[in-house]
Amino acid sequence: MSDTSEHIVIVGAGAASLMAARALARAGKRVTILEARDRCGGRIHPLPASEFGYAADGGAEFVHGEAPVTRGLAREAGLSVRTIGGTQWSFDGKAFSRESPRDAYHEKLHAAVKELTDDLTVADFLRRHFAGPEYARLRHAVERMVEGYDAADPERASTLALRDEWMNDGHATQGRIDGGYGRLIDFLAAECRKSGAAIHLGAVVVAIEESGGKVVVRCAGGEEQICDRVILTVPLPLLREIALPAAARTKAAAADDIGFGSVIKLLLRFKRPWWREREELADMLFLLSDETIPVWWTRQDQHHVLTGWFGGPRTAELSHLDPQGLIDAGLDSLAAIFNRPREDIARGLVAAAAANWAHDPFARGAYSWATPQTRAAQEILARADGSVLFSGEALYRGRDMGTVEAALASGVETAGLILQG
Ligand SMILES: Cc1cc2nc3c(=O)[nH]c(=O)nc-3n(C[C@H](O)[C@H](O)[C@H](O)COP(=O)(O)OP(=O)(O)OC[C@H]3O[C@@H](n4cnc5c(N)ncnc54)[C@H](O)[C@@H]3O)c2cc1C
Repeated sequence: MSDTSEHIVIVGAGAASLMAARALARAGKRVTILEARDRCGGRIHPLPASEFGYAADGGAEFVHGEAPVTRGLAREAGLSVRTIGGTQWSFDGKAFSRESPRDAYHEKLHAAVKELTDDLTVADFLRRHFAGPEYARLRHAVERMVEGYDAADPERASTLALRDEWMNDGHATQGRIDGGYGRLIDFLAAECRKSGAAIHLGAVVVAIEESGGKVVVRCAGGEEQICDRVILTVPLPLLREIALPAAARTKAAAADDIGFGSVIKLLLRFKRPWWREREELADMLFLLSDETIPVWWTRQDQHHVLTGWFGGPRTAELSHLDPQGLIDAGLDSLAAIFNRPREDIARGLVAAAAANWAHDPFARGAYSWATPQTRAAQEILARADGSVLFSGEALYRGRDMGTVEAALASGVETAGLILQG
């Protein structure tokens, strides 16, 4: 029989937390979730449908690849995952093209990556195998993918961890949940409450202390919870801001070997889909460029929204910009790419939102990525020893860390470790 007297506090109410909480509460544990924000979901952040015409995703948006836990949960919630079609275009400053600049060296890149036995950073990999001037475009394309897609630093990112992504050229099936990721969170939060878990919003945890065989969790506002075990699901940078007992602090130090990247995401809703007026771009899904906001994608439905994306260490160069400054930078980039007056583009704008996730006080970035030392760090962090456990997307040892799937799967794993123990 389960121990109904065990009280587990979970810090954070994102995907990992809610998934763990549901399993633990269902198994009869007393579960209290302490969430700093005034909402659940964390890095899943629906924007007002009144502004965008649908619950636009200001944070996570795509379901990458197989994502079995996400798809299973969506089925349970009665939500469908719609596969996304469309083509990828590049703009090189002069012209649009459908070809990836990597095409010419495809085979060579695949062969070099396949032969790898020991891990090394992406930058070292490129220096070792593709140093010559003839590979300049290939290096640029690889770096752009590592920075833009994985939000990672090529000087620290693991080549082995990115191998699968490269082998299918980052083109695994992508989908979107109908109604957005927020509906998955609404479903999970309702399930947690139904199973008896308490969710306290606006509770910023600042310290965790061990005292007389119990654990005391303290919040900034003075709230205090006494429990048997704590699961910390906060994004990695936030671990440094919470005072921890000595053993947990030592364990948390392993997080230094896991990368954590930044992303700037902006959504621009227009009166009409003017970018489709160029016939060749009618089925454009992604558009890659070297502009300030380099990556753009469309929705190909009745919502005329362009989403701009900039990821990786170079986002620091825009850290002085507030949301309006980011929107302006986005409009400038679109004007340059499409060779249209900026004012024309701006005039058609209906709604806009922008976030530099590095500025978000409860995320301090977007998501994690692997260095060659990350697998070892994850082994340490994921151990269910002691009274403080760690969970969340960064602890996922499967293929796509840094995703919603990773967070959900990590929550399942952490709950499983507690219930087995
Ligand atoms: C812009 C952006 C785009 C993304 N796009 C995708 C995508 O397309 N597909 C995909 O799969 N993934 C995407 N991701 C990644 C995905 O959102 C995350 O991997 C996932 O949501 C993380 O879930 P989590 O539960 O681990 O952490 P979180 O969702 O961050 O949950 C942790 C919670 O802890 C709370 N917290 C922090 N500090 C404290 C504190 N001191 N006290 C109490 N609570 C605290 C936070 O508020 C948060 O709610 C994206 C992320 C971002 C930022």
